[in-house]
Formats: sequence, structure tokens, C-alpha cells
Amino acid sequence: MSEQRKHFHCKDVGYDCTWELEGTSEDDMLPIIEQHAAEVHNLTHFKAEAEQHVRQAIQRNN
Ligand SMILES: [Zn+2]
Repeated sequence: MSEQRKHFHCKDVGYDCTWELEGTSEDDMLPIIEQHAAEVHNLTHFKAEAEQHVRQAIQRNN
């Protein structure tokens, strides 16, 4: 049984950004996305709403 790969593209949540991430679960990916958002987009407070957008963007790609 092969692993389900999940993908996140930063542009899918509205940033003019080419960064993308591949992972195996949303829960593993979220902290990495949060760190990227903080470092690159100055999004220091990753609110529940932003987390929801990220999860939806990942689900749309699978
Ligand atoms: Zn980005």
C-alpha cells in the first residue's frame, strides 16, 4: 500500500508565492506551513481561520 502524498501550494491561499510543500498528512504539514508563513509572509499569528484555509487547500489538491 503506497503512502498518500498531500500537496500544499502557497498561492492556493492567496499569496503571490511559488512555495509548495509535499507531505503525508495535514497535521505534519501545518507546522511547516505556519513557519513558512511567519518567515516569508510575516504572518506571526496563525489563526484558526488561516489553518482552515490551509486544510481546505490541501484537500482540494487530493
Ligand atoms: Zn508563501
